[in-house]
Amino acid sequence: MAELDVMPEALPVVVIAGRPNVGKSTLFNRLVGRRQAIVSDQPGVTRDRKEGEALLRGRLVRLIDTAGLEEAAPDTLFGRMRASSEHAVAAADLVLFCIDARAGVTPADKHFAAWLRRQNKPVLLVANKAEGAAATAEALEAYALGLGTPLALSAEHGEGVAHLMSEIADRLPDTAPAPRHDAEEDERPAGPLRIAIIGRPNAGKSTLLNRLLGEERMITGPEPGLTRDAVAVTFDDGHGPIQVVDTAGMRKRARVEESLERMSVSASIEALKMAEVVVLALDATLGVHEQDLQIARLIEREGRACVLALNKWDAVEDRAATRRAISDRIETSLAQMRGIEVVTFSALTGAGVDKLLPAIRRVYGIWNSRVTTGELNRWFEEALERHPPPLVEGKRLKLRYMTQVKARPPTFLLFGTRAEQVPESYKRYLVNGLRETFHLPGIPIRLQLRGTR
Ligand code: GDP
Ligand code: GDP
Repeated sequence: MAELDVMPEALPVVVIAGRPNVGKSTLFNRLVGRRQAIVSDQPGVTRDRKEGEALLRGRLVRLIDTAGLEEAAPDTLFGRMRASSEHAVAAADLVLFCIDARAGVTPADKHFAAWLRRQNKPVLLVANKAEGAAATAEALEAYALGLGTPLALSAEHGEGVAHLMSEIADRLPDTAPAPRHDAEEDERPAGPLRIAIIGRPNAGKSTLLNRLLGEERMITGPEPGLTRDAVAVTFDDGHGPIQVVDTAGMRKRARVEESLERMSVSASIEALKMAEVVVLALDATLGVHEQDLQIARLIEREGRACVLALNKWDAVEDRAATRRAISDRIETSLAQMRGIEVVTFSALTGAGVDKLLPAIRRVYGIWNSRVTTGELNRWFEEALERHPPPLVEGKRLKLRYMTQVKARPPTFLLFGTRAEQVPESYKRYLVNGLRETFHLPGIPIRLQLRGTR
């Protein structure tokens, strides 16, 4: 959120989320302590949000309490929780997800936990109201939320709060890289690998989907997808379940109501949101159109892994030249797609379609990859030597170290004095270096900058 991005000092942001009455405000006050809670009085989204600074083991953080926001939206309890936390969680460096250990895990907690896991943010699970070892069993039950080990504490009585403070400090981005909890933070959501086939009208998406479903064992489908006109189908290719979302209904509706081109982009956005890997389908006989690039940019912006599918290969005459022309166009237009996985096939005849799922699994693996902090910083030092950071306002930027904060897609955090002033060109240099050195072709890489003093 903009108002968080421009905060002075760029403090790490810690967000307290959870159902009403689990004790979020109590915990907020406990953590903020005597430091004055700042209640934002800006109109709009921030109106009711309580923010304050908390000093945790010598580190200042910006703490955001989402309590009270649930009232704003109607809908289900989970809907309200989600609506009230969405913006705050998007800006968070760490989320404290609170549950009431006495009440145990409720369905709304489960829904919220599932949603939270998909946000790819570090989460600490807090089981509150557990004073005097009360409710230990309930707290342990919270393991099942898949958000790591629950921290049992009592915000009201102060028990376990010091321990929580340490746990928070350990997870803050600009401490020295803390020991990793990969399994906890990056565990892929349970269930099938989710893909979407998107592209311009007539690229052959429906034909491809039918072909895939014809050849693989269908598990479920069609079942309702995320949006009114999307359906999801799950099949198994022998290496595990794959779910495809199909927005064919939306495309059909577009034919009557709205510009086909515009509508196919909005259908793509819907499909993209639920997918881990996106198959960008092109009619290879037509080459690359501006709208294909537009869709590719969306894929990049949403941080999804992508396979470039060149369909109608049966109708292509000069195959070598066509393949080169198309991948050149994509790669020169989108720097992040350099090295993208390209598959050529004919959905109509079936020739070559068998290459698609293995390619999807390959890019999925890359999208999930992790680089250790040691390897990363050995490379980083060399990269700095080869090309020292530029001067900004007459002074050289001091860049200190890098750490990978998450996967899916690989996201790196760079610390240094005035790091936030690193120019785009230098960021590109680093991102390209990361891509080559750590073998991350064709997937979006995120580089975040964090100034230190
Ligand atoms: P919020 O809606 O999540 O912000 O919850 P509040 O902070 O307003 O707390 C809801 C109720 O739970 C209040 O009556 C608190 O006094 C109570 N509460 C908060 N923390 C604890 C705790 O650690 N133990 C017990 N027993 N009650 C607590
Ligand atoms: P969608 O709008 O992207 O879902 O595209 P469709 O699957 O409806 O296909 C559009 C048209 O392209 C149909 O006439 C298909 O028969 C044709 N088509 C699809 N795949 C191929 C292919 O591999 N080769 C050729 N020659 N035609 C194809």
